[in-house]
Amino acid sequence: LALSVSKSRGGGTTIRYDKQGHEDIRKRYRLAEELRSAVSRQELTLHFQPIIRADSRKVTKVEALARWFSPEFGEVSPEEFIPLAEEIGIIAELSEYLFHIAASDIQELRELNHGNENRLALSFNISPVNLHSQNFIPVISNILAKTAADMSQLELEITESMLIEDNEMVKQNLTLLKNMGIRLSLDDFGTGYSSLSYLHRFNIDTLKIDRSFIASMQESTHSREIIRAIQAMALSLGMETVAEGVEYEEQDRMLRELEVTHIQGFLHARPMDRTALQVWMKHWNTVHFERRNG
Ligand code: C2E
Ligand code: MG
Ligand code: MG
Ligand code: MG
Repeated sequence: LALSVSKSRGGGTTIRYDKQGHEDIRKRYRLAEELRSAVSRQELTLHFQPIIRADSRKVTKVEALARWFSPEFGEVSPEEFIPLAEEIGIIAELSEYLFHIAASDIQELRELNHGNENRLALSFNISPVNLHSQNFIPVISNILAKTAADMSQLELEITESMLIEDNEMVKQNLTLLKNMGIRLSLDDFGTGYSSLSYLHRFNIDTLKIDRSFIASMQESTHSREIIRAIQAMALSLGMETVAEGVEYEEQDRMLRELEVTHIQGFLHARPMDRTALQVWMKHWNTVHFERRNG
């Protein structure tokens, strides 16, 4: 926000904002109000983006991504409304409701995933606020019990910042989740404070290599070397890897050569609603696994 507070020369404090700043504040306030009521009316939805095994081409996971269409503001990005939901204290409510949709939709999607013996893991993003809450685990287990979902088929995506902050509740929750058999995935990996000790300590299952390395890998030897190093480390620690943001055939080919285990990106599929994903999955499995012999 363009609100600025500054010390004037005489020692007093002046607060000023320009017209743009004033409008930004009003917009944000309206957005917060809209979000609050959209969450209470459960108007947000989920899209799912397939994650495929680089070698076999099987669809092994889908990542759930929150979507919000506001009548007033149009399509609002989760990069905008997730932090806003955290700020205004409704992220717990939002996560619970989205997780509920995800857990029930995944069952239906699994039945269609014939290319992979009905196995399809759900990858779900969680916010640091979720991990700070005492309620989070009971809520998750309740929903999983109701939807009879298999714990090993759930992967929670966290970020590096959640591991390094050294908070007791966070550590306790992560340990509990692991003990329940839930898998942990480290999102946007390589951009933060990567430390070997916490990867090991929290028994991280999957590293999601940040999109920025994939975007530059064709031109940049440096990016390719980083991907190679992440892959080598993942292999030695027994972790899977997912390359995020794969948009070109050439990237896909290079990533397979680097032996990255999974691919996610617009090249193969954009995030889609459940119905579109069912159609996509059917087509994908026909093309890759039901080819006529000879
Ligand atoms: P993320 O978890 O890293 O999700 C991946 C983002 O990359 C998604 O953006 C996805 O649409 C986009 N993406 C996938 N493939 C490609 C590609 O090939 N090229 C490009 N350019 N982009 C690609 P989206 O859906 O806008 O989500 C943004 C972020 O919002 C997510 O980043 C995640 O951090 C957060 N988010 C989304 N849904 C949720 C949620 O339900 N809960 C929480 N806590 N955070 C969420
Ligand atoms: Mg993610
Ligand atoms: Mg990511
Ligand atoms: Mg991201």
